[in-house]
Amino acid sequence: MAILVCGGAGYIGSHINKALHQEGYETVTFDSLIYGHREAVKWGTFVKGDLANPDDLEAVFRDHDIDAVFHFAAFTYVGESVEDPEKYYYNNVGNTLNLLKVMRKHGCNKIIFSSTCATYGEPEKLPLTEDMPQHPINPYGATKLMVERIFKDYHAAYGLEFVVLRYFNAAGADPDGEIGESHDPETHLIPLVLDAASGKRADIKVFGTDYDTPDGSCIRDYVHVTDLASAHLLALHHLEAGRGSDFFNLGNAQGTSVLEVVEAARRVTGRDFKATMTERRPGDPPKLVGSSEKAMRVLGWRPRFADIDVIVEHAWNWHRHAEY
Ligand code: UDP
Repeated sequence: MAILVCGGAGYIGSHINKALHQEGYETVTFDSLIYGHREAVKWGTFVKGDLANPDDLEAVFRDHDIDAVFHFAAFTYVGESVEDPEKYYYNNVGNTLNLLKVMRKHGCNKIIFSSTCATYGEPEKLPLTEDMPQHPINPYGATKLMVERIFKDYHAAYGLEFVVLRYFNAAGADPDGEIGESHDPETHLIPLVLDAASGKRADIKVFGTDYDTPDGSCIRDYVHVTDLASAHLLALHHLEAGRGSDFFNLGNAQGTSVLEVVEAARRVTGRDFKATMTERRPGDPPKLVGSSEKAMRVLGWRPRFADIDVIVEHAWNWHRHAEY
């Protein structure tokens, strides 16, 4: 039996692929390589294919005995989703329907899905818990919420068993330095800060310093990608044990401001670099933090790398020697 990792050449999927391998699972990574990196798939079998093409999927399920699916394959640029929603609805929602169809045909009924805190939209209360209203404010968040809804309906009608994991800000890199975060274009704070530290960029732009937060910059909940990986394994064990379909937040309930991330990067790298204060980025809520009390209680999740310095240190170790 093998585990299918759709989108396993991307940042989060590649770390889950490694964690599955370390626990002795056989994996098949399926990725179009539109945004993924072939070099990030260092474990198990790799198949280049696109969820948009049902024949590609059919071939994977024909050639391998797939027991469960991890689904990371999605477009994730919020700004682009506003400008070109069609691209996002087709890829993130339509192609997930293709995947579910082939799974059903082959009698595979277990899926673990990467959702996002962006499904909550503008929070009324913090920290966010799973039962709070979900009103996404951009097409990207809407696509993830639609897939959550599809899972509920497929569960009721066809017996699909799912675990939905809503990540806060995935960050850091493999502590062994084998894989890490690399996007093109890069929009995420920590890789951009490290580009400034290494001299690849002239500065880091701090988007907004007049928010109603202690230092005026935005607060986010950074969660180490290896901690995300351990939560995914627990989610798989949860489904394997027949403990039922469910939704979980994955964060640290601990906020870190943009300026605090910049300070952490200066400490960790020992380099000084320029931070330029700029305008707010449209659509950024001042503060987003999530409670993972449910994931800890139900799945037994215990994040190991909550400290922002450790997150930045692992990211820096990889960033300096990145192969992709
Ligand atoms: N941010 C920033 N400068 C950058 C990129 C991001 O100040 O060059 C801020 C952004 O406004 C947000 C935080 O860093 O408050 C995290 O942004 P990121 O894009 O990494 O993740 P998001 O929270 O949007 O998912």
